[in-house]
Amino acid sequence: MGTKLNLSGVVSESIVDGPGIRMTLFTQGCPHHCKGCHNPETWAFEPRHSGDIDKILAVAVKNPILQGLTFSGGEPFCQAEALSQLARKCHENGLNVMCYTGYTFEQLIEGGEKHPEWIKLLENCDYLVDGKFELEQKSLMLLFRGSKNQRFLNVPESLKQGKAVKVNEDTLYLGTKKRDKNN
Ligand code: SF4
Repeated sequence: MGTKLNLSGVVSESIVDGPGIRMTLFTQGCPHHCKGCHNPETWAFEPRHSGDIDKILAVAVKNPILQGLTFSGGEPFCQAEALSQLARKCHENGLNVMCYTGYTFEQLIEGGEKHPEWIKLLENCDYLVDGKFELEQKSLMLLFRGSKNQRFLNVPESLKQGKAVKVNEDTLYLGTKKRDKNN
């Protein structure tokens, strides 16, 4: 049996939570409480649906049209250890990983000393949408984001450069099919 996640729900095929067709996991528990949040039922830190990471991976790997998994919330970084294990296994199986968070990239790096599992999860992510949802900055025109303050980041490049690096949305679909298993 694999490591367990506490989930509020799963969407097996989503086209709105990142590039391509993805399985989206909604984690349970969020400390941010953003005004206008679409998923306030995910805020409580209480047990909802238990998800075994190996079983989730097995379902994802069996679906040939999936490009990756997306971790949404709730706040995925509150379950960073288990999600980092799942993300690593996704990469071993050719699936890329996108993660939403109410923290900024800078807050995650700064908090990484106290929470090394945050860095571990970042190191196993390809894409990150960071920052709280700001109702005053809400826009329906943004790719994969709800408000203008949020950023769609290239995580490996951000870690390499030591600063937040945005995804080039113009070329997103040119070179980001399934993750190469050899990468
Ligand atoms: S971080 Fe996401 S789930 Fe948490 S309150 Fe904000 S919008 Fe809602």
